[in-house]
Amino acid sequence: MMQVSDFPLNALMEITTRPPLVFVRGEGSWLWDHAGRRYLDFIQGWAVNALGHCPPEIRAALAEQAATLINPSPAFWNAPSARLAQRLVDHSCFQRVFFANSGAEANEGAIKLARKWGTRHRGGAYEIITFDHAFHGRTLATMSASGKPGWDALFEPKVPGFPKATLNDLGSVERLINDRTVAVMLEPIQGEAGVLCATDDFLRALRALTHARGLLLIVDEVQTGMGRTGRLFGYEHAGIEPDIMTLGKGIGGGVPLAALLAREATCCFEHGDQGGTYNGNPLMAAVGAAVLEALLAPGFLQGVTARGEQLERGLAALSRQRGLGEVRGRGLLMALDLGRDAGAKVVEHARANGLLLNSPRPNTLRFMPALNVSAEEIELMLAGLDGALAATLAQ
Ligand SMILES: *Cc1c(COP(=O)(O)O)cnc(C)c1O
Repeated sequence: MMQVSDFPLNALMEITTRPPLVFVRGEGSWLWDHAGRRYLDFIQGWAVNALGHCPPEIRAALAEQAATLINPSPAFWNAPSARLAQRLVDHSCFQRVFFANSGAEANEGAIKLARKWGTRHRGGAYEIITFDHAFHGRTLATMSASGKPGWDALFEPKVPGFPKATLNDLGSVERLINDRTVAVMLEPIQGEAGVLCATDDFLRALRALTHARGLLLIVDEVQTGMGRTGRLFGYEHAGIEPDIMTLGKGIGGGVPLAALLAREATCCFEHGDQGGTYNGNPLMAAVGAAVLEALLAPGFLQGVTARGEQLERGLAALSRQRGLGEVRGRGLLMALDLGRDAGAKVVEHARANGLLLNSPRPNTLRFMPALNVSAEEIELMLAGLDGALAATLAQ
């Protein structure tokens, strides 16, 4: 049997605390560690594995594309990226797509596109209003756009031009608008902040306000996009049409793929403004196309909604029985407020008993299973969670 010490872990740069586990294999909703122990995974690579671990669709797409064409260079067209872009355009309110390799990079692209548009159409306006607790990525500009507590003092100086408003408070946005403002950017659900939802009314009011003031509306759907909320894109719930959207995480089903989508009138990059060595490479685009086809199959998104409702009901029942806090979220992006800072303990206890959960805040648990998780797996998770709550809240 393998030990953790059998792996040369000290060669990796120290960036976070990790449990003494090395995962070696995955299938669907399940992961196996170095010692052969099995875990039910409700983290799924951080809401990344839309179809679970190592799904047949992705294995087939990778194998076929790897044997055909991996990267002809971003200076030439390739078929998989064109096909995936067309499918995204067919199923959204956008007309153009630029592929990237991470959510942060897609958001960098959105910021650049908005700034370019401001240069062209708003007299050099460049400020993008973002929100407290927002998470847009880990590049310098996307960290500056984020409103994550504790990041204010990190890697100074920040990129200027990202004043912060309060989610679901239209007045707080209005007060920040001036001649320098070019756009408003937000996540339909703030995932990393602990699953804090922008209300549909707020999104509609924000769309009306940005229209009235001649500003762009940018939605960061890196976490909420690609079926996570039960619709293909989160903005659909509010019935709005944003100007720019970014995708990441689920679009690659586990491989590095992200996208920047924009309405035709917003597309103002000139040749040379934007690019990247791996952007739109056929290998990743072929995977994205396979993931999207799976999400568009008849009944798939209804399944996400049904499993989401099952998860919500189960969490609400646990919360009532144990006197915990609110259940938040949509589709298969849900959170349970524990009403006390017990998140880390619950996560640790669950893991020791073969269940992987995430605690984005000390008092909050987040649930982001594969979108094709089964009803039985949700019941298994709820039972495991109940056990972990019983053991940790009693202490
Ligand atoms: C994860 C995330 C990002 C960053 O994506 P990376 O691929 O880690 O760069 C950006 N925005 C949101 C809403 C996210 O959840």
